[in-house]
Parts: sequence; C-alpha cells; structure tokens
Amino acid sequence: MSALEGRFNDGRTAASRKVLVTPKAGGLDIRGEDGLLVAFWRTDDLRADGDLPGGKGVRLRCATDTGARLTLERAEFIRPLLPRKPRLPWAKLGAALVLAAALGAGLWLGLPAASRTLANLVPAAWEQRWGDAVAAGFQRRWGACRQPAGEAALHLLTDRLAAGLPPDQRPRRVVVVRTPDVNAFALPGGTVLIFSGLLADAQSPDEVAGVLAHEIAHLRFRHPTAALIRAAGVGVVVTLITGDSSGLVATGAGMALAGAYSREDEAAADRGAVALLADAGLDAQGLATFLRRLAAHPNGLPQWLNSHPDSAARAQAVEAAAKAGAPALGPEQWAALKGICGQ
Ligand SMILES: [Zn+2]
Repeated sequence: MSALEGRFNDGRTAASRKVLVTPKAGGLDIRGEDGLLVAFWRTDDLRADGDLPGGKGVRLRCATDTGARLTLERAEFIRPLLPRKPRLPWAKLGAALVLAAALGAGLWLGLPAASRTLANLVPAAWEQRWGDAVAAGFQRRWGACRQPAGEAALHLLTDRLAAGLPPDQRPRRVVVVRTPDVNAFALPGGTVLIFSGLLADAQSPDEVAGVLAHEIAHLRFRHPTAALIRAAGVGVVVTLITGDSSGLVATGAGMALAGAYSREDEAAADRGAVALLADAGLDAQGLATFLRRLAAHPNGLPQWLNSHPDSAARAQAVEAAAKAGAPALGPEQWAALKGICGQ
C-alpha cells in the first residue's frame, strides 16, 4: 500500500500518464514511471472530483494545481474508512488517504518513527471511535463509579483545569473505573480513565488535579493516538478498514498505552500540566507530591509510574516550576470524589 498506481493529467493536454503515488507526511508524492517527480500535492490542497464508474476508483484535484487531475483506480481500501453520513469533508479524505497508505508504509518502515506524524493525520472522529471502544472495554470489565456527588466534584475539577483550553482540546469525558491499581491514563479522542485505586491512594485533591492535568496534557499533544498506533500497529489498520474496534480491546492495546510513552512525552506532559494548573490558579505541588510518593511505593512500581521513569527527577522539575495556588477542591467536594465508588 505504500505506492498507489494512478493516472495523472496535467490539464494542458488531453493525454494522461501513468504515475506512482506515494503518500508522504503532508501530501502525495506523484512520480512518473521514470521515477521523476511530476507533482507534490499537499494534503490540505486535495479536492475530490468524483468517483470513477463502478465506484472503485476516485478522482482528485489539487487546489493549487488547477486543471490537473489525479485518478486512483484502487481506492476501494479508502472507502470503508469513510463514515456514510455525514460525509467527511474532502480535506479529511485526503488525510485519510495519506494516513491509510502511510500506515501501510509504516508497517514496513517501522512504526515508531512514523507514529507522531501519523497521529496528527488521524481525524478526530476516528480517535474518538478507537478511544471509546477501549474505554467501553475497561468499563465492562470493572464498572464505572457513578456516585452523583463524586461525579459532580470530578466534573468541577475537570472544568477548572480545562476551562482555558479550546473546545477540541478539552477532555470529552473523565471516568473513574473500579479497580485497585494506582493508575490513570488518557485514551485517543479525549477520554481520561482514573482508577479508583489512585483516588484511594491520593492524599489530597491537588494530587488528583496534578495527575488529571498531566493526562489532559497528553491528550493535547495527541500522545495517546501516537502510542496506540505504535502499540496496535496492524490492529489499527484492520480497525480502520473494518470499522470494528473490538480487536483493539481484545489485544489489550488500552493497557499498552500506559507504558508506551517516551521520556520526552512525559516531560512535555509534566510541563503542560504545570501550565494548566497555573492557568487554573491551582497548586502544582500536588503532582510533585504524588510522583515522590509513587517513587517510594512499597508495593513496587504501579503502572502509572512504570510509564513514568525517573519520577524523582520529574518531581523536582515540577516543584521548581510550580507556583502557589488554591486547593483544587474544597473538603466536601474532596470527600465526595473519594466516595465516588460508594461503599
Ligand atoms: Zn504520562
């Protein structure tokens, strides 16, 4: 899937020529049979120009290359990627085309290098579909904690942290699942899962605010999507083509996410968390406290820490950047959040 055969017409003559189209980060690399570059069409400039008879192929145009036309005969693998309604705007089809083929190429070339670029090409609706499938798997397995007063406190805390963000960077959903591990992570498409064991372990609302801010920062940088592409590789491609996300849950891709971040990702999420907390007028010291306590955890390393090496150094960096702020929740709200799972 790394190179697609197509026909290219430059719009100046009636003849069209055979070309090989290779999706690259940012657009389509179009070359003649001699290997010479014919054109490079940026993803943002791609425009649909209708289906070919039979419905298998597709014609594309380029906004900056008016008159030229690119025909791809084998577009059948693109079609299942498109929701029936509403139809994706064509700029997104361009991204879908690039993504689908780049994923194919990534499998050959090695996904880690490509995952960050690919994450930025994934349309938000796909991220949500993947993330929701994984979240649903966790909720089925362990159950979600839904005491109303606790949920209200959690929403309040989330709103405080995310109020200053553009709508598409706010978490869509923060859910507490009932399981004793000290863990929390973000899923593609804007879901944050907090394990009840983390709430039980936390000594203050500021610690929970720090963890939540850290996960929101991962979401803003689309780290979970990049990690899912790395962790699930083939599964993601299958999911895109079949629209069936259950395989992701079955392969434990959700769990893999928690351990899939690089040190740079974690440092970026910490800095993002400190900035979010400062913007919200909250104290970032809680995140540092939590990191320090986890580092000294008597029961070995919980998973949140596994994915977060070097936690003492990280705590130090957070402490150095932290500004004083208000408590993240009042005593009553904190008690309600602690009790979100009931008895
Ligand atoms: Zn992290």
